[in-house]
Amino acid sequence: MRCPACGHDDSKVVDSRDSADAIRRRRECLQCGERFTTFERLEERPLWILKKHGEKEPFLREKVASGIQLACRKRPYGPEELEAVVDRVVRRLEDRKEPVISSSAVGETVMDVLREFDEVAYVRFASVYGAFASVDQFLATIGPLRERS
Ligand SMILES: [Zn+2]
Repeated sequence: MRCPACGHDDSKVVDSRDSADAIRRRRECLQCGERFTTFERLEERPLWILKKHGEKEPFLREKVASGIQLACRKRPYGPEELEAVVDRVVRRLEDRKEPVISSSAVGETVMDVLREFDEVAYVRFASVYGAFASVDQFLATIGPLRERS
């Protein structure tokens, strides 16, 4: 999404609303701070999620957002900070330039971003998501965090 004021092509989403056939997004240019609105039609949504049993569904930002909100419950962050975390996840998924992404890759991306953002939220998300393939992997992940605290 190019900024109409300066042409910079990186913006963050400050508000997002679904209507029947389009998503209305309020964006803010990361270079000049200009705010502008985009309408993205549902059928042009670039990302599809491939689920475990082979079904595809459109990628929904709201799902990632609710997972992150859950993981960050009672952590000291406001809605804007959490939106920025969601943005980071979405941007990394878009940067893969793949039209179809597996649901486990989405989970891993959320974990990577949360790990950098907040360790408590990261551990919560990882355990809720059931993404640990084995107990060993779980302990290897949790162990080093415990020693530090
Ligand atoms: Zn701009």
